[in-house]
Amino acid sequence: MSQTYLNPTLTQELDGLLVQQAMAMIQPARRIAILAHERPDGDCLGSALGLAHMLDQLGKYCVPVCADVVPPSFHFLPGHERFHTTLGDEQFDLVIALDAGELYRFGALAEQHRDFLARVPILNMDHHVSSTGCGQVNIIDTASAATAELLVLFQQQAHLPLTGEAAQCLLTGMITDTGSFQYSNTSARTMESAAVTIRAGANAETTVKPLFRTYPLAKLRLQAEVFKQAQTACGGRLIWSYADDATLITAGATADMDDSCVGTLRDVEGVLVAAFFKAYGEPQITRISLRTYEPFDAAAFCMRLGGGGHPRAAGATVNRPLAEAMPEIVAQLAEECQRLASLDATDTTHS
Ligand code: 5GP
Ligand code: MN
Repeated sequence: MSQTYLNPTLTQELDGLLVQQAMAMIQPARRIAILAHERPDGDCLGSALGLAHMLDQLGKYCVPVCADVVPPSFHFLPGHERFHTTLGDEQFDLVIALDAGELYRFGALAEQHRDFLARVPILNMDHHVSSTGCGQVNIIDTASAATAELLVLFQQQAHLPLTGEAAQCLLTGMITDTGSFQYSNTSARTMESAAVTIRAGANAETTVKPLFRTYPLAKLRLQAEVFKQAQTACGGRLIWSYADDATLITAGATADMDDSCVGTLRDVEGVLVAAFFKAYGEPQITRISLRTYEPFDAAAFCMRLGGGGHPRAAGATVNRPLAEAMPEIVAQLAEECQRLASLDATDTTHS
């Protein structure tokens, strides 16, 4: 299906000059590498593959690339087998970097191909508030709930052909970054962008069933371990837990099975901030995932740790073992909770 359905409310949403500049980079390019960030999620994978399917239609040779292999739960994405884990012989005349605004977020790719990435033209498209932009042209739209929403707007504005395969990939990005359209980032425009993909042949259940309604028993066992280990502070406003190699062994699980843990911790009654710490394989490195409610700014907190993300969902990686990093970051989280509570108390006394 290469007929392009246009929704007039979606065709002028991005900066027109930036869209023109982006198309001026794409048009002369013949071989395009499309990058998804490391530890991939539905938005970076769906966006990279969705854009590859669209640019295929313009006769481009597109290679979607992610430093990590595509987790099996994403094998429903049409074309997932096209993903490479390196830039190979670097024979590309354009790199499109998606769903992150700093090269380090592309993990091993950024290190292995440092020189190449310093000389190749880069087009960067992303929706994170913390992004600085890593391209010659940067389309960073923080009003988009997902990079996939931004790509639908780009498709609508640049009149790119939207195939059923591209549509399924882009719908996946929007579903995963909005918690199936349940988070506050879900706007009317997000829903209209999703509708464009459904009109083009995408189906919600194709994405939702393999991602959220099918899991190995080991994943449930991992969640059970993580929730058993959960602790709270600040009268239950702060909750945290962790997983390490020993947790994975006990549960018989693999690292990719921990993705819904932090969201479930956040859903505990009374929680303002949920933190999930993990250290797998490399004992000197700890990853933190944060989920918060207003007014706790997860992105600002994680940026202080060298990471970033969104106000309600952010992450960081610290070069410290779990046993050191966790108590220290928990103390900082508790301090921030206390600070916000005292602001709140001041507010009520004066109103
Ligand atoms: P998660 O907790 O799911 O890994 O990440 C939550 C959000 O924060 C995602 O949107 C992700 O892209 C962003 N994020 C996670 N880790 C980092 C990081 O180390 N740096 C930056 N800039 N963003 C991150
Ligand atoms: Mn995203």
